[in-house]
Amino acid sequence: MAQAHLTIDLPALCANWRTLSDLTQGEAAAVVKADAYGLGLDKVAPALAAAGARRFFVAIAEEGAELRRILGPGPEISVFSGHMAGDAALLRDAQLTPMINSIDQMLRHVEGLPGHPFGIQLDSGMNRLGMEPAEWAALREIALAQRPSLVMSHLACADEPDHPMNAHQLRSFTEMTDGIDAPRSLSATGGILMGPDYHFDLTRPGIGLYGGLPFIEAQPVVTVRIPVIQVRDVLPGETVGYGNTWTAERPTRVATVAAGYADGILRTMSRGAWLWAGETRCKVLGRISMDLIGVDVTEVGDTPEAMELLGQHQSVDTLADWAGTIGYEILTSLGARYARTYLTT
Ligand SMILES: *Cc1c(COP(=O)(O)O)cnc(C)c1O
Repeated sequence: MAQAHLTIDLPALCANWRTLSDLTQGEAAAVVKADAYGLGLDKVAPALAAAGARRFFVAIAEEGAELRRILGPGPEISVFSGHMAGDAALLRDAQLTPMINSIDQMLRHVEGLPGHPFGIQLDSGMNRLGMEPAEWAALREIALAQRPSLVMSHLACADEPDHPMNAHQLRSFTEMTDGIDAPRSLSATGGILMGPDYHFDLTRPGIGLYGGLPFIEAQPVVTVRIPVIQVRDVLPGETVGYGNTWTAERPTRVATVAAGYADGILRTMSRGAWLWAGETRCKVLGRISMDLIGVDVTEVGDTPEAMELLGQHQSVDTLADWAGTIGYEILTSLGARYARTYLTT
């Protein structure tokens, strides 16, 4: 079998949620947008619900409707993109809570779904989603009179705790929400780690649940193992892979393994990447292709059946460094071709 294998450790994921949750006095939600960061909403969300998560966040209403089918009634499901044109039936039928981002969205919401729960998203400086201070000042009394379930904002630089933007956004959010009754939320994973000033009533961890930075103490959640299809010996002067980008300088044993950039193993990693055969670290040779990767197994005793890309030896952030990206992009790129195993104990 040449299918690469993705193993997702649900108890580790739930332990990460609990650890992040225990760092705060308030409630911790769980962010499961983009198919739970690529790891499978239908498995991840029920596991988190069983671990005690009562509030979930998704990016768009369609994801929320899917999550409602998975979780059934009960848990609160909030939608970051708010109330978009055409969303009313979905929000109503799936009992989703839109995070209202603008006066336009507020009008659409009270006209289309009067009395339906909503939250408010404020822009405290990131300039991505949410109402700006002036817009909020104009709407504030009317909106608060309708009892929003949450007033939230999002930090732009929480992965850099010393960045002055954090204190700036904390001040801005505090000024915009001082004295309100509604529960408040500012922090995702990075903000939780910056301490109690940033916690407010509800936190919204995402990446930390899935084992990514900036949650250094996260338990690893994902393992990727890739079958070896073929092994060959190449002589000095021979090349490996597209574009002849790697040339052997000594006799080298090359394994060809069955995964590639179509599996989220980004081609831009080609230069710095490694796989593991048991406890032996093996260098990727030449370019990563769509479905195949060449690996130096000269130092490996017996030809391994499979090699490990992600797991105890290297994390999504290790891979992200090779590609000049972030763990989030590695996770959400993994794709559909893997055989997936979900560990439940
Ligand atoms: C994605 C997202 C989160 C979760 O962020 P992580 O850094 O993954 O913890 C929280 N809030 C908002 C608004 C988001 O877009």
